[in-house]
Amino acid sequence: MSVWDEVVGQPAAVAELRRAAEDPAAMTHAWLFTGPPGSGRSVAARAFAAALQCPDHGCGECAACHTVMAGTHADVREIVPEGLSISVKSMRTLVHSAARRPAIGRYQVLIVTDADRLTEQATNALLKFIEEPPDQTIFLLCAPSDHPEDVAVTIRSRCRPVPLRAPATEAIAEVLVRRDGIDPEQAAWAASVSGGHVGRARRLARDPEARGHRDIVLGLPTRLRGIGDAFAFAGDLVRSAREEATELSESRDAAEREELAVAMGAGGVGKGVAAAARGAKAAERELEKLQRSRNTRTQRDAIDRALVDLAGFYRDALVVGASAQVPLTNPDREREVRRAATEWAPESVLRRLEAVLACRTAMDQNVKPEIAVEAMMTALQRG
Ligand SMILES: [Zn+2]
Repeated sequence: MSVWDEVVGQPAAVAELRRAAEDPAAMTHAWLFTGPPGSGRSVAARAFAAALQCPDHGCGECAACHTVMAGTHADVREIVPEGLSISVKSMRTLVHSAARRPAIGRYQVLIVTDADRLTEQATNALLKFIEEPPDQTIFLLCAPSDHPEDVAVTIRSRCRPVPLRAPATEAIAEVLVRRDGIDPEQAAWAASVSGGHVGRARRLARDPEARGHRDIVLGLPTRLRGIGDAFAFAGDLVRSAREEATELSESRDAAEREELAVAMGAGGVGKGVAAAARGAKAAERELEKLQRSRNTRTQRDAIDRALVDLAGFYRDALVVGASAQVPLTNPDREREVRRAATEWAPESVLRRLEAVLACRTAMDQNVKPEIAVEAMMTALQRG
């Protein structure tokens, strides 16, 4: 199994990346992977990094391939925003390591997984390096699109584009069966409701709690009757999203705390012990801060995912109402969607869809989730 098997449903991009990895003359030092969430931007970037370090250009079997894909290769660094944006401090660290020669591999590869979350200063720090790249250093940037709101024009103009699209339902189902050993029927269902998001499909297929949260959200539109419901359901939605975020965060946080404790060494006697304990305390506080800010982001992402599911419901009602021959976002909800399309006028469905989108915008502008979601629910109830 080669590393390219990890990249789901992107034949054109894979062909181009393979060519570049196999022929140094076709190589470029900066690449920009774009595509909607779940299209596998960072997986594609990592597979490409593996192909660059692997003697066989991405065999998937050797130590280079394994360590790059696991995120432990000495010459492949990945910068992941932990809070809401990538700070100038993490960018500087990245940029410094970029200046080193490769330790064991053929290149120094730097992956920036959410280039759209760079602060302006971080963008400038990165730009300096992309303009005058050290020998053998490759930059792989990932962002939702190459729109100037996502990636500064100055950076974009120096990168070779790798556009990815939402993978087809069949491609997602196939990888869930082949790679994750999920039952074909379950995989087909999860792929069909995932909106082209591989990770989301995997979670829905495997995790009954994720399915439960989705049920809560998609049940809202037809259960929403009185204004009292609007307030109650707003609370339900935010609570359900928070729970989902907590489930995701808890195991990750605990693993990190344990790792830190091991790294700091528990117990011990003698001179340096007091100083070491102080250092350990400081590191612990630093980690807690990082986890808090990351969990805020995970919560916002969970609410956003709920809003996307909700928008999908109203979108489907419009599709059905117009008898359009396009696939539904939530094909397993066809019955409820049809009922909604007969009960509500198209203008009213459209107003509801707009209310959901307005809520996403408000959340983007840092309005408190409770307030934004309550305003949305009131609009949904009014119709
Ligand atoms: Zn290999």
